[in-house]
Amino acid sequence: TERTLSIIKPDATKRNLTGKINAKFEDAGLRIIAQKRIQLTKAQAGQFYAVHAERPFYDELCEFMASEPVVVQVLEGEGAILKNREVMGATNPADAAPGTIRAEFAESVGENSVHGSDAPETAKEEIAFFFSGLELV
Ligand code: ATP
Ligand code: MG
Repeated sequence: TERTLSIIKPDATKRNLTGKINAKFEDAGLRIIAQKRIQLTKAQAGQFYAVHAERPFYDELCEFMASEPVVVQVLEGEGAILKNREVMGATNPADAAPGTIRAEFAESVGENSVHGSDAPETAKEEIAFFFSGLELV
């Protein structure tokens, strides 16, 4: 089985959508094997999203991710990385397939409710960014 890092973003935690989003993961066969609610600093958000440092939306993205607590979690299952991205839907909610998290809940391309790792190598790095080995069983 595979593991991936998921973040329920500030727009969603603020609107009390954690349970509804988690139900989507579980209904898709993804098991939530670790989860915690944390408040990121802007610097920590910037480190997490360093790959986007040159993009025009980087500063706005870091401000947003530090604006309210987020829920970081590890999802496990067969093909979890791709499966999670299917359940999330397209980055821009206007393009997201019906029934996906972003189609149902996202407010805009920036405030789009969830993050999910995009490949095995990034999943490994992103899980280690937030969780120690002791927290993962
Ligand atoms: P994530 O990495 O959060 O799972 P993603 O892989 O679908 O989302 P990326 O291209 O990696 O999308 O962009 C990372 C995040 O940056 C997006 O989820 C969104 O919050 C923000 N973002 C992306 N494009 C834009 C944009 N054009 N304007 C504002 N914010 C954006
Ligand atoms: Mg991404």
